[in-house]
Order: sequence, then C-alpha cells, then structure tokens
Amino acid sequence: MKQEDRIRYAKRALDGIALGDCFGQTFFVPEEIACQRIQDREILKSPWHFTDDTVMAIGIYRILEQYGEINQDELAKVFAANYELDWHRGYGGTAHTILRNIAEGKDWQKAASEVFDGMGSMGNGGAMRAAPIGAYFADDLDKVLYNARASAEVTHTHIEGIAGAMAVAAASALFLNKKLGRYLGEGIDFLRDIADTLPESDTKYKILSAVSIPKESSIEFAVSVLGNGIRLTAQDTVPFCLWCAVYFYASMEEALWTAVSALGDRDTICAIVGGMVSLVADELPQQWFRYMEAPEKSVFFK
Ligand SMILES: [Mg+2]
Repeated sequence: MKQEDRIRYAKRALDGIALGDCFGQTFFVPEEIACQRIQDREILKSPWHFTDDTVMAIGIYRILEQYGEINQDELAKVFAANYELDWHRGYGGTAHTILRNIAEGKDWQKAASEVFDGMGSMGNGGAMRAAPIGAYFADDLDKVLYNARASAEVTHTHIEGIAGAMAVAAASALFLNKKLGRYLGEGIDFLRDIADTLPESDTKYKILSAVSIPKESSIEFAVSVLGNGIRLTAQDTVPFCLWCAVYFYASMEEALWTAVSALGDRDTICAIVGGMVSLVADELPQQWFRYMEAPEKSVFFK
C-alpha cells in the first residue's frame, strides 16, 4: 500500500471516530428523551462536539503520519499536550490522573502501570482510538496488532485494555480489506477471525460469545450478553461494538443508530463503531458531517 493511501485511510477512520463520538455524545440526555429520539431517528440540529475519544485518535493519526509507526514516547507526549490544551473533553477519572502525571514529567510507563494498585487500566480508552492503526497497516495484520498493543500500553497496561485496542484495530483492517476485495468473511466467521488475533482475555471470549447472537436479536438481548460500556471497561464495550459493526456495516447511519440504541457509554461505543464502519460502508450520512466538529479544524490537530 502506498504511503498516501495509508494516510488517507487512517484519516477516514479518524473522521469516522469523530462522527460517531459527536453523534453518540448528543444522546447523553435523560434516558427517556434519548430513547424517544432514537425511536424517531431524530438527530440534534445544532453543532456536535467531539470528546476525548477523538482527541486521542487525532494523537494516533498524527504519530502515524509523522513516524510511520506508533512511537510510544512521542504518543505519550501528544496525549499529554492535547490533554493540557483542553481537559474538559470527557476524559475518565483514571485518564485524568495518568495524563496529568505524564504532562508533569512522569515517565508514561510508570504513570500507566501504577493505576488500579499496579494492575493498570482495563478501560475502553485503548480501543476507542485504535481504528486508524488498522487502516494504516491494513495490508499487514502483524503490524496492526503490534502497533495497536503499543498504542494502548501508553495508557492501558492491563491485558483487557490492550486486547480491546487490538480487536478494534484488527477489525478495522479487515473492514478496509473487505472494501478492497481482499477479505470476504461475514457474520460469525468475521467475529471468529477477529477473536483469533487476540491474546487470552475476557474481551476475546466475549467476542466469541457474540457468535451466538443473530443479527435479528433485540438490542436488549445483545447488551445483556455483551455489555454496553456502562462499566467503561474494554470487555464491557468492545464485544458489542464488533457485533454491531459486523452486522450493520453496510450503512454508517444504520450502524450508528444501532450502536447508540445500546445506551451505556454512548460516545465511545459510537466512536468505535464509526471508526471501523467508515472503512467499509457504502453510504456515509453527509448531512451529519455538517453538524460534526471537524478534527482537522480543532486546536489538537497541529
Ligand atoms: Mg468520550
């Protein structure tokens, strides 16, 4: 793959993350109102702002553009610098601690590994920003997995946080390969192919349990088995996102309405689904882009 194509696909994934993030964030309203809007397919007709998911994905994109791989030291610096530019972007509590520590000069290895009594974070933050890595290295799955792991480790050292990022990056690569006619897996086979790339983890086994949930299942049932990110962990977030993307990828609009129906961690679920589906969907909702805060026009994109 040519360098210019790698960058173009990684940018498409970034825009997909931003679209999902912005869209999902507008559903953090009282649940009754959110459910009514989802039922009526009613979008908010005022500017949509992105959150930490997109800010951190911008960091990944910029590092890939600059270094052609995930340089962990530089990625940590970009994450910390963008955190300092604006920390009111919906970062989780642990992310605040890690990023503030890195910004104040602590080694990222120490900052990331000492949280949760030394267990490291199993949050969904590694996964939410991983789609551009899958797009960039789509012709080499080993590089996808290696760089996805490296990108997660800067903030998430627990195996679940790492597996979540690897799963989303691998799925993103497969979606782009599907678009390019190089991958033909669908449904159950697709889910198994993603799980096969992962280290032993709850995330991996919950992705495998998604195999038993048909596309026609109710969202409530899918959520009851797979989770919806309400616990903010990778294993509670990524399996549902993959199930949603694998069965609804033909249309970004359909995929994001399905994703947000899970409620839970709305911005992150939609960011993950948006990043993956942007690489394969035929239809992108052009009118939605009008409301979205564009990553390249933000202060973080420099
Ligand atoms: Mg967020």
